[in-house]
Formats: sequence, structure tokens, C-alpha cells
Amino acid sequence: DLPLKLQGFGGIRWYRPLKLDALLDLKSLYPHAKLVVGNTEVGIEINFKNAQYPILISVTHVDELNAMSIKENGLVIGSSVRLSKLQQFLIKVIAERHIHETSSCRAISEQLKWFAGKQVKNVASVGGNICTASPISDLNPLWMAARAEFQIVDSKGNIRTVLAKNFFLGYRKVDLSQGEILLSIFLPWSRNFEFVKEFKQSHRREDDIALVNSGMRVYVKEVESNWLVSDVSIIYGGVAPISLTARKTENFLMGKTWDKELLQETLKILKDDVPLSGDAPGGMVEFRKSLTLSFFFKFFLWVTQQMN
Ligand code: FAD
Repeated sequence: DLPLKLQGFGGIRWYRPLKLDALLDLKSLYPHAKLVVGNTEVGIEINFKNAQYPILISVTHVDELNAMSIKENGLVIGSSVRLSKLQQFLIKVIAERHIHETSSCRAISEQLKWFAGKQVKNVASVGGNICTASPISDLNPLWMAARAEFQIVDSKGNIRTVLAKNFFLGYRKVDLSQGEILLSIFLPWSRNFEFVKEFKQSHRREDDIALVNSGMRVYVKEVESNWLVSDVSIIYGGVAPISLTARKTENFLMGKTWDKELLQETLKILKDDVPLSGDAPGGMVEFRKSLTLSFFFKFFLWVTQQMN
């Protein structure tokens, strides 16, 4: 492979660097340049939303952004990694590692089964999904719930880390300044008695965008023969302009005993914690509200079953 530079109509330039250094050089020369991997978001913006990007940098061939590795504490996934590749990698990791370590891996792998079709997954990247920050992203609620961290690099090569749950700032707005790009994702192993689960409801089972989706995690500890909630994440997609943390519900759950009474109480709190107004974009408000509750109900049953 060679680094490429192509000149298109109307002065559009398209670069394809092969090394991170070369990409960062281009980013410092052209801070406004638009990165592109699978083009499944950028292409729609250009063709249907009239977006104009005079300088495009394809990061499909940058080695550092395509790397995936297994570390002592979890996985590192390069931002250009295609979703099909990620799926294959997760399946391998799940088969090799201890079961309690891979609860997050299994949730992501399961969610990928219902993510777009094969053609899209073969080209679409993890980083493209994260940086688009779609409120209906199927994966972002899971990165947030799974305590994932994002490594971000600026055009000088300085790297900083931000927790996935703090990365999404508003409607399609993320914590990346000009010149910064997403380098990789760190997905920590889940711990013993830590359970992560994915949810997605759409009109069709296959190749459809979610009405509501979710990533949930609970870490329970046994104290004097009671199972107490020691850490918890309840994140929803499709109910707000961003992937939404049900914070009141999380706060309520902390320190409580994981039992049937807790389920009833939590459903009451959760009802008011997801602020879907009557005129919320997307419609079907009652149905979507009931989905947020039924996902938690399913999560409760699933976790209880896993614990036994
Ligand atoms: P691109 O279009 O190449 O890029 C998207 C954005 O990310 C751009 O703004 C780009 O500049 C930025 N970007 C890319 N890499 C970086 C980086 N390293 N640093 C900073 N910014 C970066 N999404 C779902 O969640 N679930 C679905 O089921 C689903 N189904 C779909 C079905 C179809 C038919 C289509 C067209 C899309 C679907 N999507 C779905 C949305 C989309 O496929 C995903 O968001 C995909 O992961 C985007 O990846 P990409 O590589 O194509 O992004």
C-alpha cells in the first residue's frame, strides 16, 4: 500500500496516510480536514445533507488505528477497526478468557449481531460510530456502561484519556477539539460478579435502527449474605439528544440489596428519570417509555439468574 493523495472536482482533496505521524502532520496542516473510514455517516452527510468537506483524510490504512490487542486489564481497540473485525476479535477473546472477564465483550458482541447489515459492518468503524455520537448509536451506551476509556491524540502527538461516559457532550457533540482525533478504545475486563448486558428494540429484528437501546452494568458484592450493589450503570439510547445516563436510578441503586423489592422501587424511580416528553422526536412516546422499564426488568431477571 502507498500513501495516496487524490485531487477531485471543485478542489476537493482526499488523502490516505499509512502512519499515525503522517496523519497527525496532515491534521496540523489542515485542522478542518474531515476524517473518514467507512463513509457510512460522512457519505450520507455529503449526499443528503449538503455537507461540504473540501479536505478528506481516509484513515482506513493507518496501522496504529487498526491495531487490536489484549492487555492485562482489558482490550485495546484501534478507532479505525471495522465492526466485522471487532466482532471476530471479541468472539476469539470470549472463547479464550475467563467467563467473568468478558461480560462486556459478550454484550458488545451480541449487540453487533443486530447492528446494520454485513455490508455496512464490513466497512463501518468503531471510531466512526463513537465520533458521530448519534443519540441512537447501538454501541455508545455499552462503551459508557462498560467503563470504557477513549484515548485521544492531538496533532502534536499528545495523548489524553477520557471516560466514555464523559465523552458525549450534546447532540452529535463530543469532547474532541480541533486537531484531536480518537486513537483507540480501552475496554476493561469485567470483574467477578459484574454483569453487563445489551438491549435493542427496533421495528425489524435485522438491519434496523433502534427505537430504544441500552447498556446496563451492575457490580454486586456479598456483605453478610446480602448481595449489595457496589457499582452500576444504566444508559439508554433513543430517548434524548445524547446517550442518556439514568443518574437518579443509578444513585438510588448504589449500596442497595439486589432483591425483588429493589426491582419494584427502581421501576418507580426509573419512570421519571427518562424525560421523554409527549412531543419527543421519533414519536411512540408511551411505547418507548415502556421499553426503558422493560429493559431494566429484563436486566434484573438476567442478573439474578447469572448470580445463582
Ligand atoms: P464515517 O462515516 O467514515 O465517519 C463518521 C464520523 O466519525 C465522521 O465525522 C468522521 O470524521 C469521524 N471519525 C472517524 N474516525 C475518527 C477518528 N479516529 N477520530 C475522530 N473522528 C473520527 N449505527 C448504529 O449504531 N446501529 C445500526 O444498526 C446502524 N445501522 C446502519 C445502517 C446503515 C444502512 C447505515 C448507512 C448506517 C448505520 N449506522 C448504524 C450508522 C453507521 O454505520 C455507524 O455509525 C458507523 O459505525 C460509522 O462508521 P464509519 O466508519 O462509516 O464512519
